[in-house]
Amino acid sequence: MQVNYIQVAIPVPMRQLFTYIIPQNINSAELHIGARVVVPFSHRQVIGIIISTSTTCDIEDKKLKAIISLVNDNFRFPPTLLNFLQRCANYYHHPIGDVLQLALPVLLRQIEQPTIDLATTWHELKTEIADESSVAIEKAAKKAPKQVALLSLIQAHNGITWAEIRTLGFTKAQLNALEKKQLIEEKKQNPIPFVYQDSTLAEEEKLTLTVEQAVIVSAVKQSFGEFSCHLVDGVTGSGKTEVYLQAMERTLAANKQVLVLVPEIGLTPQMLSRFEQRFNLPICLHHSGLNDKERLQTWLAAQRGTAAIIIGTRSAIFSPLHHLGLIIVDEEHDGSFKQQDSFRYQARDIAILRARLLNIPIVLGSATPSFESLQNALSGKYRYHQLTKRAGQSTQSKITLIDVAQQQMEHGLSGTLKKAIENILKRGEQALIFLNRRGYAPAINCQECHWIADCQRCNKSYTLHQGQKLLICHHCSSQKRIPYQCPSCGSVRIKPMGQGTEQLEERISELFSDYSTVRIDRDSTRKKGELAKLLQEVSDKKHQLLIGTQMLAKGHHFPDVTLVAILDVDGALFSFDFRAAEHMAQLLVQVAGRAGRESKPGKVLVQTNFPEHPLLQDLVNNGYPHFAKYALTERKQALLPPFSYQALFRAEANYPSYPEKFLRSLTEFSFQGCQFAGPVPAAMEKKAGKYRYHLIVQAKSRKELHLAIYQLIHHISQNEWQKKVRWTVDIDPLDLSW
Ligand code: ADP
Ligand code: ZN
Ligand code: ZN
Repeated sequence: MQVNYIQVAIPVPMRQLFTYIIPQNINSAELHIGARVVVPFSHRQVIGIIISTSTTCDIEDKKLKAIISLVNDNFRFPPTLLNFLQRCANYYHHPIGDVLQLALPVLLRQIEQPTIDLATTWHELKTEIADESSVAIEKAAKKAPKQVALLSLIQAHNGITWAEIRTLGFTKAQLNALEKKQLIEEKKQNPIPFVYQDSTLAEEEKLTLTVEQAVIVSAVKQSFGEFSCHLVDGVTGSGKTEVYLQAMERTLAANKQVLVLVPEIGLTPQMLSRFEQRFNLPICLHHSGLNDKERLQTWLAAQRGTAAIIIGTRSAIFSPLHHLGLIIVDEEHDGSFKQQDSFRYQARDIAILRARLLNIPIVLGSATPSFESLQNALSGKYRYHQLTKRAGQSTQSKITLIDVAQQQMEHGLSGTLKKAIENILKRGEQALIFLNRRGYAPAINCQECHWIADCQRCNKSYTLHQGQKLLICHHCSSQKRIPYQCPSCGSVRIKPMGQGTEQLEERISELFSDYSTVRIDRDSTRKKGELAKLLQEVSDKKHQLLIGTQMLAKGHHFPDVTLVAILDVDGALFSFDFRAAEHMAQLLVQVAGRAGRESKPGKVLVQTNFPEHPLLQDLVNNGYPHFAKYALTERKQALLPPFSYQALFRAEANYPSYPEKFLRSLTEFSFQGCQFAGPVPAAMEKKAGKYRYHLIVQAKSRKELHLAIYQLIHHISQNEWQKKVRWTVDIDPLDLSW
């Protein structure tokens, strides 16, 4: 059958495909589905993806344009991946062209084709000199422990790339030093699919599983080659990582690939090195720290099957893994799996979809499962596994509430907390003090007339950053110099209000001046490599007091931290966001998990004005699983997710009446099984000069919700207000503040 037309997905914000004619000079037999073509679009040329072909077309030929060329480089989307991406676009009601674009490395989105170099990897150099110097280096182990660690990493591997070495926390200087000592060499490698051999698995590293762990490993292994979703609900330190590692063996032994999704890679080098140590196989890391070339290499390694394991952040779910056999989502409750702009997908959810389409198992792991996953596990949709005990000898830290209303406070620290910090410092241990507010102070004001420095574009106060000597709006990032005088009354008595991590660091260093304090937040770790450096200093015990934001709640292992203090949890108890309590509890338990992981028991102190609050009480006395079940019954009564399904329309414009009228016009329609809530002004009503409104559509079933959204989007295309606002739709929204 003669193919005359092709339908192409183009990266434009339109929910449609575009039809083109195939010109004489292009052989239609070469136009494969999923391949890239160069096509004219308005006045430019763009890369599009072939979605389908046809012999006839409803549009007259003279109205159609012809494709310009076929990009014939074999890097096309395999049918299974294309199908998956189309399902994702449908589910999130997002333009397919945009979704495909996201799944393609930047260098393959350009018309100008990249030259693809062979991957360069580092190898151990086996010469006599190397033998001698490795003796020398063993001796030097005390002086250059990182070099020794890097050398053994490279030795354990059949080639490891600089991108991986860097992500695992090593520096170029350490690498150069080893090269200079002629211990390692760089090689260009031809791509060959990985093959599992006896020597692949480092047997000596394997731990003997506890009964609870063994049951899970065998359940996952048994579901090899079929779809099943396993939720591993295990307290921090219960050995989830060991379960992942052993559950992967069967998949890898069959020469199938494993995809591991993690919330943030830079924060979990310890977990990564465990994967590295266990399997002598090419592991590729996919995260935002890679440059375009490295990203393309990772993409190709996934597609060609040279990479056995891909560990990555949320967008790694789109990797073109050719022989995918198992997906693992670690810390599945983590909010960073949800993309919060443009294509608002939830990587965990679509990972389940991908596993289902491929008929492979998927493992979700967390110490604090999301209510969505927990409900699916409790209802029997997922296989539910619990790890109730910590592996090894460490015990679970106990959470204690401090009623701040009853106490003398000093710089945000209660007397009880101060005493507790003094005690552990005397014992030579470390304390982690947690305050989820970066900067010096959340506002500055005039002591005479009470004027507050507000960002005019957001109607919110500027945060004072003393270190940078600036006022910064945390909502639109605009910056301003700190005024010397009050612009309203001329007084010079301008003072910071409230406390952020920067100020806390200053106060704590004064209070405990015999000890060293370090602050770890987004501001203090902006420089490349700074986070790894600070974390190393903490494990080297250079600092006794650690101050941090929620960045510190993730994944780290601080064996000598025996006290965790949380200065303020009250915001979450009385939030407009129905998920606030869930997120607060997850954060509390995760932070608590950082304490006393080794033989030293840990203690968690939480400061609150509401120690009697039922949710806090339940969490503290009965633990997360009990709290979660209690909170789930509340959600059920209120018919909130996961007992209903939501979509959120957001609209913004320069005038408040525009988004309001636009969203109100949508509520004139009615849909079976669906209800509207709103329109209402967003919690952040004004941001960067724009007024923002929300409309929630809620339904009892996903099917009804999707039908409604589909029709609403159709109505919008004919709505006169749509040109006056910027609107988006967010399926299963997570963040209702915007
Ligand atoms: P999680 O991922 O649940 O936080 P990990 O897998 O990191 O837990 O395990 C926590 C600690 O317990 C690690 O130091 C690990 O080596 C140890 N561990 C895990 N499983 C076992 C086991 N079966 N026997 C002994 N130690 C174990
Ligand atoms: Zn004033
Ligand atoms: Zn602002």
